[in-house]
Amino acid sequence: MEGKKIAIFPGSFDPMTLGHLDLIERGVRMYDRLVVAVVNNSGKRPFAFTLDERIDMVRIATQSLDNVEVIPLKGLLVDCAKKMSADIILRGLRGTNDFDYEYQMAAANREMTGIETVFICSAPKHSHLSSTLIREIASQGRSIGGFVPAVLEKEIMLRLQQAHQEAKEPHR
Ligand code: ADP
Repeated sequence: MEGKKIAIFPGSFDPMTLGHLDLIERGVRMYDRLVVAVVNNSGKRPFAFTLDERIDMVRIATQSLDNVEVIPLKGLLVDCAKKMSADIILRGLRGTNDFDYEYQMAAANREMTGIETVFICSAPKHSHLSSTLIREIASQGRSIGGFVPAVLEKEIMLRLQQAHQEAKEPHR
């Protein structure tokens, strides 16, 4: 991979959305190789989907794309980036809400290792899309068509409705 530009795109993908896929598709056009790193530990909250499920979702949705590799992200992003020989961290920006957190992370990562973060602005049609929104819509039984990659729609819907049902009736 000498001389090739490699980017690492980290995220939770809990679940994967069309916003994520759009970013990946645009990222592969910018770099020779794109490593999608699926976060394993999060300070935020427990994940709705397991690590394996989230990795599978990204693999299935990106099957037709060359030069995309999907890996679990364990430990620090900067260490994983180094291991994968990534030159750049890729992140998406949906608007000013994302900015403060992203700025902090980019600055910290650069401070630690000198790695730069490149931001891609979300397509306007995806700027409202988040994994949180998908989880809320699906758990209420509403369609998530047009929000997630079509190949994943059924499985995501099924899993989120199951989880919602179990949360309502924990002793069944
Ligand atoms: P994290 O918990 O690391 O923020 P997410 O899965 O929520 O993980 O997001 C991963 C990356 O994808 C982030 O850079 C985020 O800004 C970007 N992203 C999420 N949704 C969208 C969207 N609708 N459009 C563009 N980028 C998005």
